[in-house]
Amino acid sequence: MAAFHNLIGGEWLAGIDTALNINPSDTADIIGQYARGDAAAVDAAVQAARTAFPGWAGASPQVRHDVLEGAAARILARKDELGRLLSREEGKTLAEGIGEVMRAGQIFRFFAGEALRLTGDAVQSVRPGVEVLVEREPLGVVGLITPWNFPIAIPVWKAAPALAYGNCVILKPADLTPGCAWEIASILKDAGCPDGVFNLVMGRGSTVGARMVEHPGIDAISFTGSVATGRRIGVQCMEAGKKVQMEMGGKNPMVVLDDADLDVAVGACVNGAFFSTGQRCTASSRLIVTDGIHDAFLDRLNAATAALRVGDALDPATQIGPVVDQGQLDQNLRYVALAREEGCEVRGGETLDGPGYFQRPAIFAGATNSMRSSREEIFGPCASVIRVADYDAALATANDTEFGLSAGICTTSLKHASHFRRHAQAGMVMVNLPTAGVDYHVPFGGRKGSSHGPREQGSHAREFYTHVKTSYVAP
Ligand code: NAP
Repeated sequence: MAAFHNLIGGEWLAGIDTALNINPSDTADIIGQYARGDAAAVDAAVQAARTAFPGWAGASPQVRHDVLEGAAARILARKDELGRLLSREEGKTLAEGIGEVMRAGQIFRFFAGEALRLTGDAVQSVRPGVEVLVEREPLGVVGLITPWNFPIAIPVWKAAPALAYGNCVILKPADLTPGCAWEIASILKDAGCPDGVFNLVMGRGSTVGARMVEHPGIDAISFTGSVATGRRIGVQCMEAGKKVQMEMGGKNPMVVLDDADLDVAVGACVNGAFFSTGQRCTASSRLIVTDGIHDAFLDRLNAATAALRVGDALDPATQIGPVVDQGQLDQNLRYVALAREEGCEVRGGETLDGPGYFQRPAIFAGATNSMRSSREEIFGPCASVIRVADYDAALATANDTEFGLSAGICTTSLKHASHFRRHAQAGMVMVNLPTAGVDYHVPFGGRKGSSHGPREQGSHAREFYTHVKTSYVAP
């Protein structure tokens, strides 16, 4: 079986242990054996990164551009093969896997350009004879901790800006999906990234992740994952004086108004709720539907959902791949049972026979917004359908959540679309589009319990990955 090691200071090193990377579509298919590091591996990576930092921070932006552009070209040239790996290890369909790989390549390309565009300001001082310069500097060594559900896009959307702006990186991917992260490390090395500038330490959050958060040689942590882990990490980083950015969960509302185009609404809800097996932080897990269209919408939603083909992620006919592992499947099934106990009429949600973790998408009809199944993030193919009287009730219900990542509305009314866009308490708003599915060159992130710190992606990413320095000069 192929063995994959950590990348520390430019060398491939074994860990203290290994993890089997298992295909959730077919648990007999083992992708490889991946190293698990420990606290000592993090210490070694920090030392390598600190040694490499002055050279990388001081390098010409052309050097940084060329490494990132090299990574972009390599990823895009291998999109089919890497997309297949992604679908094998995470379980999203092959089309979704290839799409995510392309996005990773495009992100590297975008930040290759950003490396050349890092500008500052020269400002006139209020004091005669003084010049004021506002410039950006890299933070130093940045620790990246990532989840399993976007195993190539999320590591890349953190690593690319970190590197573009002159930081050195230590990446700890999810223990469940190390395959794509290993490929990123290998591709960056091949693209000429100097030793120690990008380090990969695979392993468990409780050992590798915890050491990264506490290590005094790491200047900042960018985390994506669950609220529980994120909040704990956030507190520790504050105490240690580290800069921290956290992207966490969602319980994203999709409002469907009486005047919506039914085809558009059903299409957006099926995509937003169930594609990628509902394992997206931006998934539409609360479908909030006004009275006049509710019954027709529910009939169409039930029919469209029942027609979805669930199966092996690599089968081109599959529309919904497997759940990522047994633990997540058990959690989904607990919520299906809970929704029933809470009084919902549940359609779907049952497991399917097969060599993987297959589950039919579930609709919780007759839900209210106060039910636990409507308030807690499930992170599976489950959506509550909540009936409301009118637009005002829909908006209030949409905002009645601890989360604030993405919010959508399906309507043909410009008035309601504009009002919702302004008043939805979310970082991203979608009109007649699924709540999930975003561009790679504009800011991504939420508010309330979903996010903390500056936005990721697009040129806004520099807010996290750089310090601002204001200099006063009397020539
Ligand atoms: P998770 O359990 O919180 O894990 C995220 C990462 O944190 C993993 O690499 C994990 O390591 C690590 N970790 C766990 N405990 C740690 C600790 N004590 N110290 C440092 N690191 C630690 O989340 P997940 O189940 O992988 O991902 C699903 C969650 O991510 C959902 O809530 C979803 O909404 C959220 N998500 C948010 C966004 C967004 O941008 N807002 C995007 C995607 C996903 P292990 O590998 O050992 O678990």
